[in-house]
Amino acid sequence: MNAKSKEFPVLMVTGGNRGIGRAVALAAAAARYRIAFTYRSDQQAAEKTVAAIESLGSEAIAVYADVARQDDVRAAFASAKERFGRLDALVNNAGIIGEPRSIIDVDEQHLDLVFRTNVFGAFYCVAEAVRQMSKQAGGEGGVIVNVSSAAARHGGMPQEAHYASSKGAIDSLTLSLAKELAPMGIRVNAIRPGLIDTAIHSIHGGDEAIRRMAPTVPLGRAGTAQEVADTVLFLLQDKSSYIHGALIDISGGR
Ligand code: NAP
Repeated sequence: MNAKSKEFPVLMVTGGNRGIGRAVALAAAAARYRIAFTYRSDQQAAEKTVAAIESLGSEAIAVYADVARQDDVRAAFASAKERFGRLDALVNNAGIIGEPRSIIDVDEQHLDLVFRTNVFGAFYCVAEAVRQMSKQAGGEGGVIVNVSSAAARHGGMPQEAHYASSKGAIDSLTLSLAKELAPMGIRVNAIRPGLIDTAIHSIHGGDEAIRRMAPTVPLGRAGTAQEVADTVLFLLQDKSSYIHGALIDISGGR
């Protein structure tokens, strides 16, 4: 065991200031990961998350990044490296639904926003994480968890083809990366949450939309960010060492 591997591991979570990303950051901090996370618009939530992580006895750095911009992503990973000196895991979580649009009203600007955030952003973050973690490039290997959606499988809500297909791309990315990154010592999986009670649903009706959709879930309720985070934490840890290239539903059966 070298000196580095005795240190607590470092996790980068994109969109770690609220929702599922925040729950992942806190669950990992409680499991003694040091946390770097990005935020884009809600700096106050980012500051509160740093304080919550520190109160768990861990360390955190919050870095501004619009994941749709490759320069921002590069700068965020550089800041994390400067602070912690290593990277062991990435949770590619930042994402948006985009406003509901009939397929005949979809335009370039709308698709650009959703795909640049959900798909391009995931590619940019994976690239930076692999640069630091790849055993072929002098790193120690690592783990990536991509946050897809059950919508990739069931098509999502009406008028949200843009969102469902952006998450379909995340599934394909995950399957492809499983082949490319295994020789570099990097394990990759995706989770596909179903209806999870977070602010992401404000774009199509918020709490009312969650209440309306909950009965369509076989378990009869929306899931919580904590329930998603528990699975992500399992995927980050060695207990899941033979799970690779898997697309794992966390959807109450929907
Ligand atoms: P949320 O509460 O709305 O949080 C979204 C997070 O993504 C926020 O931290 C936000 O940062 C960040 N973000 C959005 N656009 C960004 C950008 N361009 N650059 C950087 N960060 C950006 O949503 P959530 O429910 O936790 O969603 C997290 C992930 O789970 C998303 O990928 C989503 O598609 C996926 N998911 C959610 C559900 C669900 O039902 N909730 C189901 C399936 C999949 P700011 O707050 O700073 O803007």
